[in-house]
Amino acid sequence: MIKSKLPSVVDLTSQLIACPSVTPQDAGCQKIISQRLAAIGFQCEPMQFSDVNNLWARYGTRSPLIVFAGHTDVVPPGPTSDWSSPPFQPDIRDNTLYGRGAVDMKSAIAAMVTAVETFVKTNPIFPGSIGFLLTSDEEGSAINGTVKVMETLLQRGEKIDYCLVGEPSSNKKVGDQIRIGRRGSLHAKITIHGKQGHVAHPHLAMNPIHTSANALHELAGIEWDKGNEYYPPTTFQISNIHSGTGAANVIPGHLDLLCNFRFSTAVTVNELKERTEAILKKHGLQYNVEWHISAEPFLTKKGKFISLVQQAIQDITGLSAVLSTGGGTSDGRFIAPTGTEVIELGVSNATAHHVNECVDLDELITLERIYNTLLHHIFD
Ligand SMILES: [Zn+2]
Repeated sequence: MIKSKLPSVVDLTSQLIACPSVTPQDAGCQKIISQRLAAIGFQCEPMQFSDVNNLWARYGTRSPLIVFAGHTDVVPPGPTSDWSSPPFQPDIRDNTLYGRGAVDMKSAIAAMVTAVETFVKTNPIFPGSIGFLLTSDEEGSAINGTVKVMETLLQRGEKIDYCLVGEPSSNKKVGDQIRIGRRGSLHAKITIHGKQGHVAHPHLAMNPIHTSANALHELAGIEWDKGNEYYPPTTFQISNIHSGTGAANVIPGHLDLLCNFRFSTAVTVNELKERTEAILKKHGLQYNVEWHISAEPFLTKKGKFISLVQQAIQDITGLSAVLSTGGGTSDGRFIAPTGTEVIELGVSNATAHHVNECVDLDELITLERIYNTLLHHIFD
């Protein structure tokens, strides 16, 4: 393909990939996007919190307000020598665009911008508003990004009705799957106390490896819930276990565990905590536990926005999108609690975070058309 003939969405994705925006860097992405949006009449407002760049942009003052949300930061590329072309030099081979962020999620951001450009140029007056909420703090700590922008908007009383997050939601083909929620994530750091001693004199010690074994077996086998219409059952995993001094003749004094729940809306955080601690107590263990909720679950129930998104996908691809709540966490968790209907729709996730991350150009163009059609369904 000759560079000057590239479709606008491919050209913009390439420009964004060329910005080495390893989290929490933005590396100029939001400036490029601001200029494009300002040129079609958006009010653009950079929101810097600590070392994180965020962008809030809005066109129109009426409701409903649909917001396109996403992140300009990417995960580190790892050794450049592992890549077949440098990760921050966009390269097109076999109708496929390669580069870090090609899937997660510079392609979707470019598709949002070009879809909105086309829409606003042909429909400058429509009954509602369009917004963009972009951050460079999604792949990292997610402390100074979307959550802070949402706090600011809430203080101002700026209400988002619908939000489309451009995370790579699709499975094999763009539009075959959308995410309508994400599970929550609950961490437990557990210390089981014992009493150190000589292995030859166990009656003078208490071995926490032995005393905890049955409790861990029970925890690993529990059915925490059955899931519900929207969610698979909650899962529990022990990710780290450590005990022992390294010496073969010492009974250890404590055992340390890291555990994680990926939980559905069929159970509450308190229930998970209570059931876990009840098992530790039942087995007579002396323990400490530190709980940390890293993400609350969110869910958009079947309603108007899901129908409009499914209709737009059907119009462009003929596919009936599967509704999913799988995958890790996303910034949708910070937007949904305000009552916004949040849906994630982006390209296929096969090479997200991989070496030689890449997007098929036809998929990218299809995504742009779906976004554009969605705007027509919302406002026409
Ligand atoms: Zn992402």
